[in-house]
Amino acid sequence: MLRIALPNKGRLAQDTRELFAEAGLEVRAASERALTASLGGEFEAIFVRAQDIPELVSDGAADVGITGLDLIEESGRLAEARLDLGFGRCRLAVAARDESGIGSIDALPEGARVATTFPRVTERYFRDAGKRVEIVPISGAAEIAPHLGIADVIVDLVSTGSTLRVNGLREVETILTSTAHLMVAASRGGWDAAKRDALDELTTALESVVAARNQRYLMANVPRARLEEVRQVIPGINGPTVIDIMNGGEHVAVHAVVPAASVYRTITRLKALGGQGILVTRIERLMR
Ligand code: AMP
Repeated sequence: MLRIALPNKGRLAQDTRELFAEAGLEVRAASERALTASLGGEFEAIFVRAQDIPELVSDGAADVGITGLDLIEESGRLAEARLDLGFGRCRLAVAARDESGIGSIDALPEGARVATTFPRVTERYFRDAGKRVEIVPISGAAEIAPHLGIADVIVDLVSTGSTLRVNGLREVETILTSTAHLMVAASRGGWDAAKRDALDELTTALESVVAARNQRYLMANVPRARLEEVRQVIPGINGPTVIDIMNGGEHVAVHAVVPAASVYRTITRLKALGGQGILVTRIERLMR
């Protein structure tokens, strides 16, 4: 049985459940507030605080976990962050009061006070930058600290930046960017074959869903004479698939996987090459 530690609340918990459902690992909990659930097959979930997950995984209380890279880094625990899941994107940044005149960490005075809920990462960052600072560890709401006079700057998580803005703070430097990661216990070398197989199954299932999210499947009818140019526009994974159309005349059908982010540009370029009947669909899973 592979025990998977999952975040029990908040955005990270919600996004994780969605990912698992898409990967065919529906969380079957006895109730909304259950602390454990079966995921079917060889998998069992436990629901815990996201910040406790690195410790639980490195201690072996769970075999794998899903949590933010920021929390894994802060824990200082030895573990492998095996798979970037792409959601929960944020950055850990140094921020100063708007009117402080501090535009970079070089402008910080010697021994500047830095309030943060991430003391370990912050300490390492300033040490590596050769800057002597005093860390002021706090348990939340760092953005108030400069206004209370207990810190010169803060190190806090930023997503949209609106929390900093409404509190009269601005970002000075990014320390790390974070997304949710699948984290695996460093002890996995000692696992039996069944557990290792379960981990491979889990990794492949999650990886294929994550890979598919940024891609679309595009189908179009294009003039056969323009195929070389079409290939430049939709190279696909191994080149586009080209299919004959019954009574298609000068047209053939092409199918290819394309990046979701640029799909509208791709459509425009295909139309310019005489493309017709363009269809774009989501992909459930993608294994390269
Ligand atoms: P925002 O106003 O969107 O920049 O969000 C910043 C606030 O949300 C700060 O209080 C952060 O501590 C918190 N926050 C943003 N992203 C995350 C995240 N991925 N995990 C936990 N807290 C976050």
